Parts: sequence; structure tokens; C-alpha cells
Amino acid sequence: MTSGSASTVSTTTHSALAPYGWDEAWAAEFAPYAAEGLLPGRVLRVDRGQCDVLTAEGVLRADTAFVTPHDPMRVVCTGDWAVVEPGGNPRYVRTYLPRRTAFVRSTSSKRSEGQILAANVDHAIVAVSLAVELDLGRVERFLALAWESGAQPVVVLTKADLVPDPVTLAHLVEDVETTAPGVPVLTVSALDGDGLDVLTATVADGTAVLLGQSGAGKSTLANALVGEDVMDVKAARDVDGKGRHTTTTRNLLALPGGGVLIDTPGLRGVGLFDAESGVGQVFAEIEDLARDCRFQDCAHSGEPGCAVLAAIDDGALPQRRLDSYRKLIRENQRIVAKTDARVRAEIRKDWKRRGAEGKAAMEAKRGRWT
Ligand code: GDP
Ligand code: ZN
Repeated sequence: MTSGSASTVSTTTHSALAPYGWDEAWAAEFAPYAAEGLLPGRVLRVDRGQCDVLTAEGVLRADTAFVTPHDPMRVVCTGDWAVVEPGGNPRYVRTYLPRRTAFVRSTSSKRSEGQILAANVDHAIVAVSLAVELDLGRVERFLALAWESGAQPVVVLTKADLVPDPVTLAHLVEDVETTAPGVPVLTVSALDGDGLDVLTATVADGTAVLLGQSGAGKSTLANALVGEDVMDVKAARDVDGKGRHTTTTRNLLALPGGGVLIDTPGLRGVGLFDAESGVGQVFAEIEDLARDCRFQDCAHSGEPGCAVLAAIDDGALPQRRLDSYRKLIRENQRIVAKTDARVRAEIRKDWKRRGAEGKAAMEAKRGRWT
């Protein structure tokens, strides 16, 4: 910053926005807009073409009509860093800073376009309840979704008080760690507070979302992180407002221990989206093995020289992993295909291509081995 007034603005902005995730890199992205006198702010919630933006001037209600309204992937969403016009009534969001990460729903009922659920998320907390039997397949799905967004997944095994035997608990953690290479696995009990300090520290340096099945303990974790019954408060306000959100409802909260939590109704209900590259990361060891398969498009279902099946044979890869890998990929394509005619056409084309390649491979095989 060269001019005195610019650095004053920047200091005010910094102290107001830092608890909401503002950092040097965002400031650098924003610099050209700052020069024009525009305001940076984090989007707390969005509804009906308007959004609440936390700025150095406080929370502003701003209109998002100018932000490419026809492309659902480009609409402003919770977590975005908005570039707000300095004056006018209503205020307008001019644009938003390029997203670092994004959670996208691509498969909602009748739309073939994606729907953006949350932007600039650093930590995807996957809550998994220890009150019920571990469903590793389900954990894998949530991890795929997390990786796909660009956020770093963290698995939190909740209700640890229900597993008092430390050896059993260690085994459960180990099971999840094996399923989730590269993903930290924490255990937490909101009931007696165990592990909350580690979770608080984990989310302190960025923006987090809570994923997981209903009943996994997400609201309880959110309340523990926020330090008040904010989720209950939110639910009550929704009812009081006869289905309408009030302006005081925020989907993005600064946490007292540092960091930010995004909790939107859309994200809470997420299942599996088109997380194809995410699937690859969850099953990194399978994709690694597949590189050694003789055929580049090996389906690992009996082809000669298949490294994946060889790994299953010698016990290096559990059959369950391959089964759930297949299931997840199939399910993914089915969900996407259901809603996106274009993708459907591509999948058909791909099958045709695979069919042709398969035939060629068979012929080559015949040439080679018979
Ligand atoms: P959500 O649907 O994922 O938001 O789950 P909730 O936070 O509403 O929790 C579901 C149920 O699990 C509630 O009855 C909670 O009281 C209970 N629960 C949450 N955390 C714990 C915990 O640490 N220990 C025990 N024993 N129960 C918990
Ligand atoms: Zn193979």
C-alpha cells in the first residue's frame, strides 16, 4: 500500500474480515477493486437474488443481479468473497473473488446444471456416529464429495462416549484410517467434551463445513464449536418466520476458537454428487494399482495382466475396497446420467468407445495368445 488512506482502509478491512477468513492472498486478489473504492465482504447467506455480506461497514444486504444470473454455477453463494459497490440503494455485488474451493450439487431433481452450495471451504468435517455400526462405504462417499470440492477432509467419529473400551475405539479409528488414506481421523464426545479441543484446533485456520448422515451429531458439533445453541436458535427462527428466513440467520459463523463454520440446509442434506475425481482420491491405492494393469482401460474384471486383481489375490487389496470403488463409480454415473442428458450422451459414447476398444483388445489377445 502506498497512499495513507488506502492503508487505513486496508487495516480496518483486515481487522473486520480476518475472523471471517480474510488473508493476504484475498487482499492481493482484491487489490484492483480496492483501487476503485469497492468493498470486500464475505457472503453469510443468499436468498432470492440477495445476500447478506459481512463487510468492514457491518452486514450489508446486497443485490446479486449483476453476477451472471443465468449460470447457476456462477451465482453468489455462502462463503464467497463478494466485491460490493461502495454506495447506492440497493447495494450491488459486482462480482466475487475466484473461488479456492466449491461444494457443488449437480444432481438436484430436475436441473441439469450444477448448484453451488458453499465456496472457499478449507476443511470438510465428515461426522460419523459411533452409536451405530461403521458404514465404511458411506464414509467413502462423503470423502469423495469432500475431495471433489477441493477441501481437506477430516473424519470425526462422534459419540465416542458410547465406545468406552479404548481397544475397540482404536480398532474403529484404524478401520476408518485404512479407508481414508491421507485423512486425519479424530474421535470426539460432545457429551463429556473429549476431543473437542483437537477439533477446535483443526478448524481454527480456515473455513469448515460439517457433512454426514442425519443423526451423526453435526448440530451437536456445530453447537460445541460455536459455543451456543445456534443451530436450535436457527431452527426456531425458521419456524417463527413461517418458513421464511430472517435476516439475522447466518449460514456462516466466525468461531470463538478461530476459523469459520458454514452450515447451510443444502449442505446438510448432501448425498453423492458427481464426485468422479474425488472417487479417485478416496481410492488412490486402486488407481495406483490400475496404472500397472496391462490394458489402459482395464475394468479389473478378469482381464489378463490386471494389477488390481493380482493385489486382491495376494491380499494387498481387500475385495471390499474394489467392490465399493465400483459401486461408487456406477452410482455416480447413474445419478449424473439421470439429470444430465449431455453427460448421458457422453457416457453412451464412452461405452461405445470402450466396446470398440474391448473388441480390439480381444482381437489383439486372440492374436497374441491363440
Ligand atoms: P445431526 O442430525 O447430524 O445434526 O445430529 P445431532 O447433532 O442432532 O445428534 C443426533 C443425536 O445424537 C442427538 O440425540 C444427540 O443428542 C446425540 N449426540 C450427539 N453427540 C453426542 C455425543 O457426543 N454423545 C452421545 N452419547 N450422544 C450424542
Ligand atoms: Zn485391471
